[in-house]
Amino acid sequence: MSNHPSDGTPVTEAAAAATGADRMLTLFTETVEQAPVAISITDARANILYVNRAFSRITGYAPNESIGHNESMLSDKNTPKEVYQDLWEHLQDQRIWQGHLLNRHKDGGRYLADVTIAPIVNEQHNTTHYIGMHRDVTEVYRLEQRVLQQKVLIETVVDSIPIAAVLFDENGRVVLDNQAYKMLCSDLGLNEPARTFIEILREELAEDWERMKQKRTGFRNREVRFDRGGRHGPRWYACAGSWFSQEDDRIEAFFKESRQTYLLLTLTDITQQKKHAEEIRINALKALMAEEEKIQSLREALSGAIHHIRGPINLLHAATTMLARREPDEKNTALIDILDQVHRAGEQSIAQLSKCIPESSPSALAPVNLNQLLHDTIVLLTERLLACGIVVDWRPTPVLPSLMGREGQLRTLFKQLVENAIEAMNQGGIDHRELRIATWPDAQLLHVCIEDTGPGIPEALRIKVFEPFFSTKNEGRPGHSGTGLSMAQEVVNEHLGMIDIDPNYREGCRIHIQFSIHHALTESRRPSAHG
Ligand code: FAD
Repeated sequence: MSNHPSDGTPVTEAAAAATGADRMLTLFTETVEQAPVAISITDARANILYVNRAFSRITGYAPNESIGHNESMLSDKNTPKEVYQDLWEHLQDQRIWQGHLLNRHKDGGRYLADVTIAPIVNEQHNTTHYIGMHRDVTEVYRLEQRVLQQKVLIETVVDSIPIAAVLFDENGRVVLDNQAYKMLCSDLGLNEPARTFIEILREELAEDWERMKQKRTGFRNREVRFDRGGRHGPRWYACAGSWFSQEDDRIEAFFKESRQTYLLLTLTDITQQKKHAEEIRINALKALMAEEEKIQSLREALSGAIHHIRGPINLLHAATTMLARREPDEKNTALIDILDQVHRAGEQSIAQLSKCIPESSPSALAPVNLNQLLHDTIVLLTERLLACGIVVDWRPTPVLPSLMGREGQLRTLFKQLVENAIEAMNQGGIDHRELRIATWPDAQLLHVCIEDTGPGIPEALRIKVFEPFFSTKNEGRPGHSGTGLSMAQEVVNEHLGMIDIDPNYREGCRIHIQFSIHHALTESRRPSAHG
């Protein structure tokens, strides 16, 4: 094959190949010469043989000022020895070295060089040359340092804030938190308690949550009660949250503008303030309960009296009716009259007594926290529990949805059940005295379980105990009107709930109450005479 260059002279293939190689060489030389990165070629002792334009621009040395000198001419003499040792160990092993070196510009100014050095190896596997490439990364480094320092500064400030702070990204991942939050995690013994707080707040704020998120606003001073159970009292937190958006720093967003939304949640422990307010509330509650107890016992005494009078009066009425049905000659009209009078007098007495039963003033319907009511009950009965040597195992679900109900009646209900449990355990022969109270929700219901280690309720009586005036205790013993569980049943019924005694529980008595979360109670339902 032969080529015909433009002048028409035939050339051999070898000559054509040589021309092509020359062109390539020129191209390579120009490419290296014009490359925007500083390139130098050295011999095996790092003596410079060639430098490109970018090298001269970055270092300040023209080719004639650098060629023939060692690369060490660039050194600022502040790069640690170990770095050079590492560099040369790599090169001697014929490996590429990459790293940062502190260089000095011809004019004396320092700059940070991002350097890559590669050995050039001949066919006998000997290193004959090195090629060095470097960029001045001083500005990038300065910016990186500034960002890092700012990050450290922000983290230090955030860490020193005595309020727990957590930053969530759009996917609910925690991207930043502080020391106070870490302490809160260990205090509550939970991995990421902020998620629980978010769930509660989202439920409480309902549609407002999404609205605030869309508008990039926030909320403040939302109080959340957190029940840890056991010996720990409840903790209270004032929560604040604010949404904001920032430019997306992920590489996916490099060519298109996109923003990420973040939620900053802060949790301020207000347990101390709440405790103080709680003490005041419990004292007021004690006074209120004492008053209510007096009224309740009066109500029970009068209802009991009516119940007892009602029996003979009914008998009297039956006897009068029977006598009145007899044949006229057998009738004892005078006796019937007397019996009638006695019956009427009896009915009047019952009516009088009924009027004396104090009216109950039911509390209004409102969202009620059952954990709080049960905790109140334990606090109110602490002295009696201690006096009877009863250990309390309090196991609430940390955050319980609220129930629409009447606080006063529900509190009386729980107090009655706990008092029953105390009484059941406070008997000779019962050494293990433990009261277990637990709460938990499921999709539909709120559950409350009150267990004791007393003698339990025999199977035959499990339904009967809910009847009014039925008591397993000796007749006539003070304080046993037999109305406690019937009242409890009534309160639960009013709240559209269910109460039962667990037939499978053998250690004592377990009362299980269930309230519907979604079945809203309305004011039209008549509250009972109890509570
Ligand atoms: P030196 O006396 O040069 O040596 C310091 C250490 O390196 C000693 O432990 C010594 O034993 C070892 N060492 C030096 N030369 C060799 C060698 N030929 N073979 C094996 N070990 C050796 N340095 C910079 O500071 N800035 C640069 O931009 C830079 N670019 C370079 C580019 C190339 C292509 C090469 C090959 C080297 C480059 N160097 C650069 C390294 C430079 O050659 C010097 O090693 C370095 O600057 C330290 O110089 P010095 O005079 O302080 O110490």
